[in-house]
Amino acid sequence: MTALAGRKVGDEVLFYAEKKFVARARIIGLFDNRALAEAVWGTDENQKTWQHIMALDDVTEFAVPAEPVLRGLGVPVPLRSLTLVGAEERLRFLDMVDPAGPARAKVNPPSSGSGAGLGRHDLLRALASLKTHTREQRSSRHKPITLLWAIGRLAAGRERMVEWPRFRQEVAPLLRDFGLADSRVTPEYPFWHLRSSGLWDVAGIEDRKETPTPSRLAEEGASAGFSQDAAKVLRRSLARAEAIGLICSTYLSELDREALLERVGLAGYASASGGLPDGEVDRGRVPRRTRTSSQPVRDSQLVERIKVMYGHACQVCGARIETQHSHYSEAAHIRGLGGPHYGPDRLSNLLCLCPNHHVEFDRLAIYIDEDWAVRRNSTGKIEYKLERHVDHVIEQEYLEYHRGLCGRG
Ligand SMILES: [Zn+2]
Repeated sequence: MTALAGRKVGDEVLFYAEKKFVARARIIGLFDNRALAEAVWGTDENQKTWQHIMALDDVTEFAVPAEPVLRGLGVPVPLRSLTLVGAEERLRFLDMVDPAGPARAKVNPPSSGSGAGLGRHDLLRALASLKTHTREQRSSRHKPITLLWAIGRLAAGRERMVEWPRFRQEVAPLLRDFGLADSRVTPEYPFWHLRSSGLWDVAGIEDRKETPTPSRLAEEGASAGFSQDAAKVLRRSLARAEAIGLICSTYLSELDREALLERVGLAGYASASGGLPDGEVDRGRVPRRTRTSSQPVRDSQLVERIKVMYGHACQVCGARIETQHSHYSEAAHIRGLGGPHYGPDRLSNLLCLCPNHHVEFDRLAIYIDEDWAVRRNSTGKIEYKLERHVDHVIEQEYLEYHRGLCGRG
């Protein structure tokens, strides 16, 4: 079991078969459960089983030759394999799975009773109706900024609940730098009052009417964070993208979204590609160290195919840019290839766009509706109808993800 010793929630796992990496996924839960392990894998001749279990999300399939990667890491080739239970089969085992552990589950009822069975739409509805202080018709940004910070923690696989001293240390600078100019930096306000959203837990302190003072919070050892139900929903990639898009566009539209998202560890959510636009030139973004080694590999044949299919004409505006000897267009992934989006590299996730519409699509200035209307995000007005080739199937699910990022989920 030494191979699994260092793994933790939030880590990425690569799947390996026949000398290739065939998929990647993110760990959203770790637990030991012998009964479940026996049901899935059985036991070996010594009655042993494989009870260390990982729950995974954000699964993306691909095929990358493994040998160069493994040699680079100094890992022996080939690897041993792990067994997976697929989505449908998993239902059979679902009620055996209790990440909290069977003993604890019997003692404690689920943490937030009223929030049981919270779904994606409930979460978005709650986020859309936050109660915020309003002063001179501008609402305070304390709660939305804190929520983005908390989503950033979940996305990084960090603990859901945070003790007050750390909360203040991390949230106060955000409120100072991104709050309204005339607003006081009072991290105790969102720490305590986000409970009214129905998505937030405060633990370790007695309930009371007035906001506890910072020293009280410290003395009593209070901690706060998303409720278990909200955290569970936010660990799913579509809900997370939608939540971030909604919070930014509803409460923080006058703010430099890119700067704030970068500060809370969600930089990739400021654009549809998640990084540099599809391997083209850097369009004025500040270069970031973390990107240099994580550019996803894209299939150049697919890029060629989409451009040829449309004869280099932009699917949004129809423009066909002439060059001396040919034409120029760009292949845009609808759901970005790189982290944090991990969209697939396939034709159904690609558009042929002119450079202007590529930038507008990537930077969330335009989005595409279910009926293929191309709308401007700032006004919601229809500007174009998306051109579609008969052989080009575009998956609605990727457009839905992009709309989520646009705050149109
Ligand atoms: Zn165009």
